[in-house]
Amino acid sequence: DLVAIRRALISVSDKTGMLDLARVLHAHGVELLSTGGTSGMIREAGLPVRDVSDVTGFPEMMDGRVKTLHPKVHGGLLALRDDAEHVAAMNTHGIEAIDLLVVNLYPFEETVAKGADYDTCIENIDIGGPAMIRAASKNHAFVAVVTDPADYADLLAQLDANKGATPLAFRQHLALTAYSRTAAYDTAVSTWLAGAIGETTPRYRSFAGKLAQGLRYGENPHQSAAFYTNGSNRPGVATAKQWQGKELSYNNINDTDAAFELVAEFSAGPACAIIKHANPCGVGQGKTLTEAYQRAYQCDQTSAFGGIVALNQPLDAATAEEIVKIFTEVVIAPGASDEARAIFAAKKNLRLLTTDALPDAGKGNLAFRQVAGGFLVQDSDVDTIKAADLKVVTKRAPTEAELADLLFAWKVAKHVKSNAIVYVKDGATVGVGAGQMSRVDSTRIAARKAEDMADVLGLPQSPTIGSVVASDAFFPFPDGLLTAAAAGATAVIQPGGSMNDQAVIDAADAEGLAMVFTGQRHFRH
Ligand code: 5GP
Repeated sequence: DLVAIRRALISVSDKTGMLDLARVLHAHGVELLSTGGTSGMIREAGLPVRDVSDVTGFPEMMDGRVKTLHPKVHGGLLALRDDAEHVAAMNTHGIEAIDLLVVNLYPFEETVAKGADYDTCIENIDIGGPAMIRAASKNHAFVAVVTDPADYADLLAQLDANKGATPLAFRQHLALTAYSRTAAYDTAVSTWLAGAIGETTPRYRSFAGKLAQGLRYGENPHQSAAFYTNGSNRPGVATAKQWQGKELSYNNINDTDAAFELVAEFSAGPACAIIKHANPCGVGQGKTLTEAYQRAYQCDQTSAFGGIVALNQPLDAATAEEIVKIFTEVVIAPGASDEARAIFAAKKNLRLLTTDALPDAGKGNLAFRQVAGGFLVQDSDVDTIKAADLKVVTKRAPTEAELADLLFAWKVAKHVKSNAIVYVKDGATVGVGAGQMSRVDSTRIAARKAEDMADVLGLPQSPTIGSVVASDAFFPFPDGLLTAAAAGATAVIQPGGSMNDQAVIDAADAEGLAMVFTGQRHFRH
């Protein structure tokens, strides 16, 4: 299964390492074919190279849209060398076998990330490159295909070990990498085009990702894992700059995403979210970013240890000073001042990520969920509720202060695993109940955690007294609402829509609570 390499076609946009590779191939006696820009560089380096346009007898044309799309190229990549008919066709048409293809594609993803206009993005869709990659990959019985400069070293090691040939198992792996690359490439094009024309329905789309990073392990150390990007330029963990700290782990990436998407809900003033295991253990607004952080931290100081902190404004020095007082895994913010970075620099393990902007909370990503044999795709849950959409269902309407807190609690509840219960007072969470199988349990747990914090902080009473409460879906029975009332909540926001709504409303009236229905729920399972 060893195949000697006699002829190679090199056509690369990213020319990193290309000349070194060409030199070694030449030293192995390999004939080099190449396209315009690539062949120019090879020739300038003093190596013999044939232009593909000489091989095909056609010039490169139409701004490079047509360079290698020719039977002389594709026949050379696709012909089965051990099939008499294929060999006869090669002889008849003067097609020369190509044993190695080195291609990397027009930088479509990078072009989109730079915010290029529509026509520039279109022009950066590589056509001949993917066609050649797919042809060579299909014919991996005879052809080796390299699509990533990071794989040049492996290729050369194989050639050295096998006297200028490649083994089948290696070619199979190269083909696998190559098909993953073209799939991701077309996904990036599809993702971009969907965004450009405003098509959000998942059913028109196909999905694959570009390998961004092999991870040390997955959710647990015995699970292998990797991080893939899909070409979207939404600000977040995939596109952020990491200033310091160890490589992000699987759980870090997941939690950092949850944190940043949550804090992006709040664009008015400074806000902070602290996440543990993808659930918020505190969210706070403040007059300053420092105050927002302190208020988020105060909600559940115990859980915040080792958490992920997301800020909706650039990290400043005062907030950095506050954050380094406890152990935090990751901080993500739309920027960081030099002073803030200097303060973090002393904490080697603290990872700092910055983005250029906040993600647009009014626009979604797609959300995926894996099932055996496939995966589910849906629009991400974009909150559209405004004060004017709320329906007051109790005798008492919420006060203005309650209303502000109700809307705040509602936005947070969207980011809490169901059944989600969130108590809020004065623009900060004071109790979060997440992920319980019964709503009344979430209501109890959130209230109990708030009481525990009152003990820790030495408060005279539970911070839920005088709070408001949000429930991500309707209360099916009055018990959850009564638990919240007993904890001291004075107002409730929930979707409504239960057969038992009237009983729940009656219970609220009996307790003197104000309650509003949103008509929209925020399950997050
Ligand atoms: P060069 O810099 O050598 O002129 O161009 C290299 C790039 O051209 C590579 O990224 C390769 O994938 C791409 N390419 C090769 N053949 C074709 C073709 O026929 N059409 C298009 N659009 N791109 C091609």
